[in-house]
Amino acid sequence: MTPHQRKENRMSRPPRSHRPSRSEAQIEGVPVRSLPKVSLHDHLDGGVRAATVFELANEAGIELPTSDARSLCEWFADQADSGSLVDYIKTFDLTIAVMQTAENLTRIAREFVEDLANDGVIYAEVRWAPEQHQAQGLTLDEAVQAVQDGLEEGEDAADENGHAIHVAQILSAMRQADRSLEIAELALRFRDDGVVAFDLAGPEDGFPASRHQPALDLLAREFFPVTLHAGEAAGLDSIRGALLDGRALRLGHGVRIAEDLEVIETEGDEVRVRFGDLARWVRDREIALELSPSSNLGTGAIEAWGDSLEDHPFDLLYQLGFCVTVNTDNRLMSRTTITRELSLLAEAFDYDLEDVEQFQLNAAAATFLPIEQREELIDLITEGFDR
Ligand SMILES: [Zn+2]
Repeated sequence: MTPHQRKENRMSRPPRSHRPSRSEAQIEGVPVRSLPKVSLHDHLDGGVRAATVFELANEAGIELPTSDARSLCEWFADQADSGSLVDYIKTFDLTIAVMQTAENLTRIAREFVEDLANDGVIYAEVRWAPEQHQAQGLTLDEAVQAVQDGLEEGEDAADENGHAIHVAQILSAMRQADRSLEIAELALRFRDDGVVAFDLAGPEDGFPASRHQPALDLLAREFFPVTLHAGEAAGLDSIRGALLDGRALRLGHGVRIAEDLEVIETEGDEVRVRFGDLARWVRDREIALELSPSSNLGTGAIEAWGDSLEDHPFDLLYQLGFCVTVNTDNRLMSRTTITRELSLLAEAFDYDLEDVEQFQLNAAAATFLPIEQREELIDLITEGFDR
């Protein structure tokens, strides 16, 4: 392979003490927030506003670990930064506890869209697991409809503020549970009403995609798109399972595909790499990787490479031609936004606007929208970056 040439640093970097906050971050003088962006891996229960969790928990008499919303926001971030995916997942008990009524689901979905619009996102796919929202008697269909109502309200509200955004749903089934067939059928019922794909979430290690074969086979027979969490908490076998058993069209994170790459020579900025067959397949078939840099650090998904963003194999995968996309995973737990993730990557790897545009074009092409709408998205992104 021909290694790409590293570019000179074109990102302006003021001294650390004078650096603007990430929400005002700029690349080549352009505010990142103003650029059109696409978000493919963004959990509804991981993107609730801390203030909303605080308010709704108080209303419902749910015990909270802190006495005000601001410290609750910090509590989520601290819990999530433990380095363990299991600890990380525990923070969701609290957000999910306040997402058990149609009214609350609608509100949270609406705020979710408003926050994305405020971050400059023009298209997103939000994922969540309806089976976790039935503690107070909602049916699966009622829960999906409540979220859909909220998404549409959020789109309308953003539109009134002059920002066009569209958000589609991905329904997740939990890997450790046994309801995937029901969730697959649910997704199919809503395929013309806002749901564009199916996902498996929850503990990846020990719960392979093949446990959910009937659901995955049904979706394949119905030609319904699938993206699966794989290559985050488990390695290459899990990615194999997602592609072979799940016929996944994208990989949820997929970061551990880098385990199938052997760096055989590093000379200056040039890297020579030997590909395993799986890595070659994922790259050459342009199977999108839904990478989430801050989350991958927080959960220990990249611990084989190190513990800082500079160690993330993101840049290696990008330079080697993988279809990399940039995502937040859980904005509340990682205290992040797409703008922040892009700014952090740009700082770590000297990316310029062209790189950031490429990540958006990759994401747009990998959405589960019909091709005409993907082409429209691509035009919007190109226009936005040209400006
Ligand atoms: Zn995720």
